[in-house]
Amino acid sequence: MGAPIVVAEGVTKAYDHGRVRALRGVDLCLERGEHVSVVGPSGCGKSTLLHLLGALDRPDEGRVLFEGRDIAGDRRLYRLRARAIGFVFQLHNLLPTLTAVENVEVPLYGLGVGRRERRRRAQARLEDVELLDRSGHRPGELSGGERQRVAIARALVNEPDLVLADEPTGSLDQAAGRAVLDVLERLVEQRGLTLVVVTHDREVAGRAGRLVRMLDGRVVE
Ligand code: ADP
Repeated sequence: MGAPIVVAEGVTKAYDHGRVRALRGVDLCLERGEHVSVVGPSGCGKSTLLHLLGALDRPDEGRVLFEGRDIAGDRRLYRLRARAIGFVFQLHNLLPTLTAVENVEVPLYGLGVGRRERRRRAQARLEDVELLDRSGHRPGELSGGERQRVAIARALVNEPDLVLADEPTGSLDQAAGRAVLDVLERLVEQRGLTLVVVTHDREVAGRAGRLVRMLDGRVVE
């Protein structure tokens, strides 16, 4: 715990030419090393908030500060995302024609990491998620839980400070979901990373140190 890593101040976001007000003024401060769950009914703005915290999108109003710097309008948005943030989505989004290890290497392209070093780092992350022996398998040859563990390895390969997970267990049965979360939490804790998990699952939410509850585009507690 300690200094804030990412702060949202009065953030709003609308879609569809302002007809859908996804976020109506959100203030949120995440500290280094925190594990936070974001919960709330479908459509309340959880994913939108996660995208803004992760510099995937910009707010209409308000600002998002990453390590004290405003990221809206920052032309280095891409670099920030590439270097400091890891994403895990509900559907793992692995590339079907690439092997597990090749998928884990993807975030390292564009960071100027050489081929051998890319492979070394990707294999180390696959070892972390206990899938080194499946390095050469394509996503179609892996179970749902294994695919999601590959996605975790991919999210961590750029050694991010902040890991954002959107329903990471949403497509898994309970046992597989638990195993995936065990791996994610262990790695995040070992590295002192900040973890934000959007979830519908009460058990998953209950594992976080802090619960952020959203309703209708706002944080309510
Ligand atoms: P949650 O993750 O809590 O289910 P979202 O952040 O995905 O909520 O969505 C919040 C609201 O914004 C919803 O009404 C949703 O339909 C709408 N929305 C999300 N993304 C888009 C988009 N790209 N275009 C239009 N409307 C969107």
